[in-house]
Amino acid sequence: MPRPKPVQPQVEQPRLVQPQIPEVKFSNIDENEPDDGAECKAALSAAGARYDWVGTATEGECTIGNAVELLSVNNGTDMISFRQKPVMACDFAALMARWAGEVAGPVIAGHTGAQLQSITTGPGIVCRKRVGGAQTKISEHAKGNALDITGFGLSDNRSIQIMSELVKSEQLALKALRTSACGYFTTVLGPGANPAHKHHFHFDFKKRGKSYNYRICE
Ligand SMILES: [Zn+2]
Repeated sequence: MPRPKPVQPQVEQPRLVQPQIPEVKFSNIDENEPDDGAECKAALSAAGARYDWVGTATEGECTIGNAVELLSVNNGTDMISFRQKPVMACDFAALMARWAGEVAGPVIAGHTGAQLQSITTGPGIVCRKRVGGAQTKISEHAKGNALDITGFGLSDNRSIQIMSELVKSEQLALKALRTSACGYFTTVLGPGANPAHKHHFHFDFKKRGKSYNYRICE
């Protein structure tokens, strides 16, 4: 005997108003195949990023498509410049721009009372094998999916360098920045993780397995 279906009362559902949060898609982050990059460019603009479109970027034996040079992020409060103009895969650059504007600026302001003006970084794309781990695997840097951060420049001329002598508020700011990055990136390494990361934060968006859910947050 089939069980009778319970009768659902007809209740009108209240309409939820969804906030307009720009979505960053990561579908092509592994392949980095060149396309017109329209979706990623829109994500960068939504994050307040200024950038130069590079397209196909070659460094040694490594080539990535849809590369951009990230110049700055304006979150409406802070004007955060990336003075080293790191070259990254567009989707990763959009993720970095979001973290900088949504988290790094407000966290620095909250802990130090100053505005975040610059983020000091490595060059972005670096054609090499991984350091500080298994040497046989290709680094996410080679795919443009990683960035190393060495310090933060503040509006009161202070410079917070990772692993330099820091006052308590600056130490807390760095701790909060590192922890917050785990919500954006799939790999977050820094001092204490291994000797190779003594002087910088390493953020990347490595895909492990089928999804981006497996994260290394050290
Ligand atoms: Zn790195």
